[in-house]
Amino acid sequence: MGIVHEHSIDWNSYKRHRILLLCLLVFFIPLTRLVGYLEGRLNLPSAVMALFVVGWILFIFWAGGRFALWPCKNCGKSFRGMSPLLPEHCAHCGSLR
Ligand SMILES: [Zn+2]
Repeated sequence: MGIVHEHSIDWNSYKRHRILLLCLLVFFIPLTRLVGYLEGRLNLPSAVMALFVVGWILFIFWAGGRFALWPCKNCGKSFRGMSPLLPEHCAHCGSLR
């Protein structure tokens, strides 16, 4: 007989996604510098840098939007609703996090 732990958020995925978002923000400037260095060393077209930066920013927007709208496992709607912080209860169905 096991103990069933029910959470309205998939915490492991949530924490992985939070780490991904943090890494995207932290490594943006160092990797942009690295791409700029490689662009100069390898005589790559300047579009490489532009594509890298635009792609990285779009990835940050995607990850940030997904993080902000993380779904409640109970009702499937955004757990935090309009709250900037992660509340104790789902904003829509009231289930505990
Ligand atoms: Zn809910």
